[in-house]
Amino acid sequence: MERVNAWTTYKKREEKKVMDLGKAYRAFLDLSKTERECARETIRRAEKAGYVDLEKVESLKAGDRVYVNTMGKAVQLYIIGSEPLEQGINIVGAHIDSPRMDLKQNPLFEDTELAYLDTHYYGGIKKYQWVTLPLALHGVVAKKDGTVVDVVIGEDEDDPVVGISDLLIHLSATQMDKKASVVIEGEALDVIVGGKPLKDTEKEPVKAAILSILKEKYGMEEEDFLSAEIEVVPAGRSRDFGLDRSMVIGYGHDDRVCAYAEIEAMFKITDTPKYTCCCILADKEEIGSVGATGMQAHYFENALAEIMEKTGEYSELKLRRALKNSRMLSCDVSAGFDPSYAGMFEKKNAAFLGKGVCFNKYTGARGKSGSNDANAEYMGKLRAIMEEGKVVYQTAERAAAAPSPTSAPSTA
Ligand code: MN
Repeated sequence: MERVNAWTTYKKREEKKVMDLGKAYRAFLDLSKTERECARETIRRAEKAGYVDLEKVESLKAGDRVYVNTMGKAVQLYIIGSEPLEQGINIVGAHIDSPRMDLKQNPLFEDTELAYLDTHYYGGIKKYQWVTLPLALHGVVAKKDGTVVDVVIGEDEDDPVVGISDLLIHLSATQMDKKASVVIEGEALDVIVGGKPLKDTEKEPVKAAILSILKEKYGMEEEDFLSAEIEVVPAGRSRDFGLDRSMVIGYGHDDRVCAYAEIEAMFKITDTPKYTCCCILADKEEIGSVGATGMQAHYFENALAEIMEKTGEYSELKLRRALKNSRMLSCDVSAGFDPSYAGMFEKKNAAFLGKGVCFNKYTGARGKSGSNDANAEYMGKLRAIMEEGKVVYQTAERAAAAPSPTSAPSTA
C-alpha cells in the first residue's frame, strides 16, 4: 500500500512539474509573438539573471555573463568559460521569427466603404489558414524625429481585432474547385480594418476615419507607414490543448519552443562552465536567414571577436581557431508523427510527441539537397551526453530548415 502511495505522490509531483513548465512556456510564447518582442523579453529575463550588455563592459573574465542585442531582433547570450576561447565554445541556436503577414509600405486603402491594410506574407504560410480569424497588429512605427512607437492592437480583452474575409459557402462553387495553394491568393491577403465613414469628409471617408484613430492613439500620419514594421499575427493567447492538457496550442511555437528551452538552459547554469556557453536567437530564418539580423550576417563572428578582445585573447588566428573548435546544436522544430497523415512519415525515422528532444543528423530532400549532415563522431558524443544526463531523446529525419552561423560548424 505504501508503495502505491509513494508512486501516486511521485506521479502527481512529476505531472505538476510538466504543468508548471507548460504554463511558464505559454507565458513566454504570449509575450513573444514577434522577433522584436521575443528579443526584448529575452533581454529582460537575461538582465534579471545577471547578464549585462556586451557593449557596456570593458573587460571580461571567466564566469561573466553578457548579451548581445542585434537591432532589437536577434540576441546572443554568453557565459564566459574557464578555458581559453580559442579552444572553442558550446553553442545552441534557434530562430525567433515566425511566418506571418507584414504590412506593405503603403498599406492603407479603401474599397467600397471598407478600409483595408495590404500585406506581404512572410515565410511559408498556408494562405487559406489566415482567413476568418481574429488577427492582431504587432510592431513599431519609427517616426522622422527618431521616436519609435510600439504598436500592439488586438491582444487585450477590450481591444478590437482585425481580419481577412472569405467567401460565403453559397457563392463558393468556383472557389471550392480551386487548388488549396490558390484558393486564397497572396494578393488577396488584405486585412479589413474599418467600415465606418468619418462624416465630414467626402473622399474615402472610411480610410479617413481609420487615419484619425491612428493619429489619436499613436500620433501617426499615413506617411509613417513608410518607416513602420507591423506584423499581422493571430490574436489571443496560447492555450492548453487536449482534455488531458498534454499539449499547447499557440502562435509561434516555431521556433520559440527551442528559444525558450535554450534561454532556460542558459539561466540554469549557475557555476562557471569549462567552455564558454553561447545561445544565439536569430531573425529571418523563415526567409533564408538573410539581412542584417539573419544568420548570413556576421553578428555572431563579430560578437565572438569582441568577447575575445575583452578577455584579452583576441587575434585573427585565435578567432578562427575558436570558430573551428566550437560545437553547435542548430535547433528548430521537427515534424511530429500525425496519425491523420501517416503516409507522409516514415515511421522508423519520424519524431513522436512525448518521446523527448529530437535530433536530426541531417535534413534535406531529394538526395539530401540543402542538408548539413552532422558527423557520426559528433552524434556519438551527443548520445553519450544524453545518456549521462538521463535525457530522453529521439532521432528523426524530417525537419524544417534551421539557422546555422556561417563560420561555426553546423550540426543537427
Ligand atoms: Mn523553424
